[in-house]
Amino acid sequence: MTTPRPLIAGNWKMNGLAASLDEAIEVAGSVRPVDARVAICPPAVLIHRMSEALKGTSVLVGGQDAHWDDRGAFTGDVSAEMLADAGAQMVILGHSERRAAYRETDEIVARKVEAAVRAGLEPIVCVGETLAEREAGDTLDIVTRQVRGSLPPVLAGKPFSVAYEPVWAIGSGLTPTIDQIEEVHRAIRDTLEKMFGDHGRTIPILYGGSVKPSNAAEILHASEVGGALVGGASLKAQDFLAIIRAL
Ligand code: PEP
Repeated sequence: MTTPRPLIAGNWKMNGLAASLDEAIEVAGSVRPVDARVAICPPAVLIHRMSEALKGTSVLVGGQDAHWDDRGAFTGDVSAEMLADAGAQMVILGHSERRAAYRETDEIVARKVEAAVRAGLEPIVCVGETLAEREAGDTLDIVTRQVRGSLPPVLAGKPFSVAYEPVWAIGSGLTPTIDQIEEVHRAIRDTLEKMFGDHGRTIPILYGGSVKPSNAAEILHASEVGGALVGGASLKAQDFLAIIRAL
């Protein structure tokens, strides 16, 4: 299996109105597709407009969550099939903000991943420890358990990535040391190889948590880092482009 190009994905979270599409258009106009795959995950209501605006460019569009069922009586929810129908190619699943605020367990995340695969979306599955878990020395156990529990067998041979996002680094300006990032990414790689064999060797493992133009080069060149999931710094085209160019 060939190793995919690094993936740099922007997670806009609950930010962005129609006027913000200009930022995505600016990214798409300046990005060099040879270096990396680039995706932007806006709020669900912008997916259709963004995918239309970026048609013919190399920038992919993704959702930030999806329900585990394809349709039904789930007021307020959006299914993976609906995201794909609106033009999305990927979807972030198991983000720590959803694990914390909506009590999403590994089992729920795994069901959502199955739904994403059914819909033809490429999942970005997030894992990561809290500060208390790191301080207790449990990081590798927690992350390994999340990887095993959140990735269903249906992913075998399918395109997907895992994002290591220490919860304490998200939106905080704090980042782990490069040694800490490499230690966790190595543990994730070992787990992926055990679960998926040869395919497990090529699955991109993204780092996420306070990636910004000033630290992107160091993080993106760390061993086993196959890209980044970027929150706050993906909202402004010039910052996001600077991170992409740091590859
Ligand atoms: C995220 O929420 O996925 C994230 C990485 O956020 P930030 O870059 O703002 O820390």
